[in-house]
Amino acid sequence: SKTIYLKDYRAPDYLIDETHLTFELFEDHTLVHAQLVMRRNPELSAELPVLSLDGQQLELLRITLDDRELTAADYQLSDSHLTLQPTQASFVIDSTVRIHPESNTALEGLYKSSGMFCTQCEAEGFRKITYYLDRPDVMSKFTTTVSGDKQKYPILLSNGNPIASGSEEGGRHWATWEDPFKKPAYLFALVAGDLWCVEDKFTTLSSREVTLRIYVEPENIDKVQHAMDSLKKSMKWDEEVYGREYDLDIFMIVAVNDFNMGAMENKGLNIFNSSCVLARAETATDAAHQRVEAVVAHEYFHNWSGNRVTCRDWFQLSLKEGFTVFRDAEFSADMNSRTVKRIEDVAYLRTHQFAEDAGPMAHPVRPDAYMEISNFYTLTIYEKGSEVLRMIHTLLGNQAFRKGSDLYFERHDGQAVTCDDFVKAMEDASGIDLTQFKRWYTQAGTPRLAVSEAFDATARTYTLNFTQSCPATPGQSDKLPFVIPVELGLLDARGNDLPLRLQGEAAASGTSRVLSVTEAQQSFTFVDIAEQPLPSLLRGFSAPVKLSFPYDRDQLMFLMQHDSDGFNRWEAGQQLSVQVLQELIGQQQRGEALVLDQRLVTALRSLLQDGRLDQAMVAEMLSLPGEAYLTEISEVADVEAIHGAREFARQQLAEALFEPLWQRYQANREVSKGTPYVAEAEHFARRSLQNIALSYLMLTGKPEVLAATLEQYEACDNMTERLTALAVLVNSPFEAERGKALEAFAEHFKDNALVMDQWFSVQAASTLPGGLQRVQALMQHPAFTLKNPNKVRALIGAFAGQNLVNFHLADGSGYRFLADQVITLNALNPQIASRLLAPLTRWRKYAAARQALMKAELERILASGELSADVYEVVSKSLA
Ligand code: GLU
Ligand code: ZN
Repeated sequence: SKTIYLKDYRAPDYLIDETHLTFELFEDHTLVHAQLVMRRNPELSAELPVLSLDGQQLELLRITLDDRELTAADYQLSDSHLTLQPTQASFVIDSTVRIHPESNTALEGLYKSSGMFCTQCEAEGFRKITYYLDRPDVMSKFTTTVSGDKQKYPILLSNGNPIASGSEEGGRHWATWEDPFKKPAYLFALVAGDLWCVEDKFTTLSSREVTLRIYVEPENIDKVQHAMDSLKKSMKWDEEVYGREYDLDIFMIVAVNDFNMGAMENKGLNIFNSSCVLARAETATDAAHQRVEAVVAHEYFHNWSGNRVTCRDWFQLSLKEGFTVFRDAEFSADMNSRTVKRIEDVAYLRTHQFAEDAGPMAHPVRPDAYMEISNFYTLTIYEKGSEVLRMIHTLLGNQAFRKGSDLYFERHDGQAVTCDDFVKAMEDASGIDLTQFKRWYTQAGTPRLAVSEAFDATARTYTLNFTQSCPATPGQSDKLPFVIPVELGLLDARGNDLPLRLQGEAAASGTSRVLSVTEAQQSFTFVDIAEQPLPSLLRGFSAPVKLSFPYDRDQLMFLMQHDSDGFNRWEAGQQLSVQVLQELIGQQQRGEALVLDQRLVTALRSLLQDGRLDQAMVAEMLSLPGEAYLTEISEVADVEAIHGAREFARQQLAEALFEPLWQRYQANREVSKGTPYVAEAEHFARRSLQNIALSYLMLTGKPEVLAATLEQYEACDNMTERLTALAVLVNSPFEAERGKALEAFAEHFKDNALVMDQWFSVQAASTLPGGLQRVQALMQHPAFTLKNPNKVRALIGAFAGQNLVNFHLADGSGYRFLADQVITLNALNPQIASRLLAPLTRWRKYAAARQALMKAELERILASGELSADVYEVVSKSLA
């Protein structure tokens, strides 16, 4: 496979002003006619170089240049390109190709899912549809005609507005769509199927009426209201917060069952994984409801951050993704609990993105090389990219950030631009120099920030010393200092925030400040500090770094109670838990008796007993750091010790806190019983505390807890309570009850694919012994198929990613199993195969015996035959 470098970027030789497509859909093939109105790029010389169109897996039937039929002597064909020599600066190419969506299992380009035709063109899927300049800086006006069997495919959709339709002989019909906005091919979409829709309206800022439609298979029509509500909220929020209005007369979302990612922002016609659209109380959890809201918002927000202004090349992917994730995170924070949203995002980032940043695939937010761009739809591009945007927001403040965003959209509307262009707009609007800040785009790796303190009682000064560093990552051994915004406060002995005055300032201002750490070593001195304060550092997680400060456990307990920053109260609890768990891990490794520090019990008891606290916060604080996070922060991860220590702590907490947990559980369950399901923050909060309490309580194995679990399982009216009860049973020693519940669940929901995904996941994640055998048996279940990415993720992905003790079985059988699946999937769906691989690439985290077993499986994959570029890149880089 070939590596592509950012430094090799060149503007396109030719442009495509207009693209006219006609699709004739049949059961055993599809014909694609493309008329491309092209011209030499006027920015370049007048010479006419060879034109090289991208095209893969296309059967060329006919091609003309300005109405002249070309013969094989006029062009060259390879498995990835069609090249020919234009003779004039402006010309029209007409081509007809035959493709096979009906056998497309890679789910890239045009494919069939549950009997409907749909597309996924980002990043490079359009070249599997027709010969084209498949690059984001070639933007064109599209007209699309779709023709198909009227009965099988009554609904025919593409981007933009419908302009004509009609019937054909042979029971066929057609529809033509026109998209008035120029767009790159990756935003093209087509859908044909037997779909129903829910329709609504939205009136924009400037009083234009927009038709909103969500298309689903008929049996799912009762599960779209939540997505529609989310869409309307998103449209309003983007007008209010960013001044962005929708620009077509119609906005459509289509749900499909087989989809590699979450969803896709095609202009005017978003295509979604059904798991990110369908939600109703009986079938979707609270988390699923929140994900639907977030993904609907994310894709909608792309209409500006991605579509109106797009990426020049795929190295700039975070330009649209980092920005849009930041936008959707702020939207979710405004719709629900801001602190809880931040806690969830940070926990996710630190567990998964930090691991990626420390692994063989580490890359900067703006990478400078790739083999297969599909491998770069990563946590770094999305989540760290969003953190970079958040830091710009923090450094500029809300007003200047908005000015910068307005300038960016105004300056670049209709263009394909770079991350530098974005930062430039932010600089120009704010007057703030972001030159050094831009290292966040170019340097990979998670910076470390070590902080120490010095209090001088006589001078009444308090100094914080910061030392930053960043570990080497592939291709980058030395890093320059980052700009790290550190939001902080200083607490006095009663827990109040002190007024903050830095040396050299005339007066104190504020009690929470943002310091910019820009040097490798840097100190800040606060004056007028009468007593030794306790610092609250990196409030709201103001930068994606690993911060260390030598807090002792009593200080962490103090911060848990008093910090005015909600995020840092949670963070203090996490740090306390990490210290306690690491102590237990050490005891386990030395073969000593495990002894839980009672301070953790005391701290959690006081949270449980305080009825005034936000219940969602209490639930978050009761959640111990996960095994994957404990792995990430270990030098050498000891799988059994991590699992053993964490389970021991949970067991001890369950027993010591039985009374308050039982009380909170019963009180909340009572309210849940008497309240119809509502997908709102306060209700999420109640159920989350209720459910985490139940999962602790079951560890005691008391009969009244079993009875309560069965009652909740059977009598609840929503999937959040039902699935928790099922998960609790699945992880319990009550074998008969577990079997009965699993069977009843599958019987009841066997026709609902998304619910069955959860049924698979709950079992895949069970840490009881025999996990691999259970997963292998479940692969034989009639509801399972390797062809559906959601199923693969729900069963195999959940097993390898979440069930660490079972996946990392010392005999290597988990690794062998995963490698087998990767080898099979490599031929079916390279993107999914490559993503499934991630756990094996982390072999450096483990002791020698496991390293050898994991590497052997990677080598076996490498030797297994013809590998897709996707799998080859990840395997070869992780063995390098
Ligand atoms: N652009 C999509 C999104 O993040 C994902 C790309 C894909 O599906 O390949 O919204
Ligand atoms: Zn996106």
